Amino acid sequence: MSGMICPKCKTENLQSARFCSHCGASLRSSQNVSHSNYTGILKKMTGEKRLKTAFKLYEIAFNLTRENILENSPHLTEEELKKKILKRFGNDPGRFTGKAR
Ligand SMILES: [Zn+2]
Repeated sequence: MSGMICPKCKTENLQSARFCSHCGASLRSSQNVSHSNYTGILKKMTGEKRLKTAFKLYEIAFNLTRENILENSPHLTEEELKKKILKRFGNDPGRFTGKAR
């Protein structure tokens, strides 16, 4: 069977289990999600959930870009900054999940 493997003790639990039957560790913790399998998880998502996640990623990337621009040109006004970010970054969260529609 293909169940949830406990990240702590490697016990195999039911796919629907939230906590390990052996050690009680959470099986749904975000700690289980590494960057390398994040894309795979996104691909398995559909519709609304996927879009929400895409927006979250967009927000993170947006802030990172903002930090980066501010580092290089600390004297920009908020308006100039926003323009620069959008120019560099685009305005389409769908790019993070491939084709959004
Ligand atoms: Zn366990």
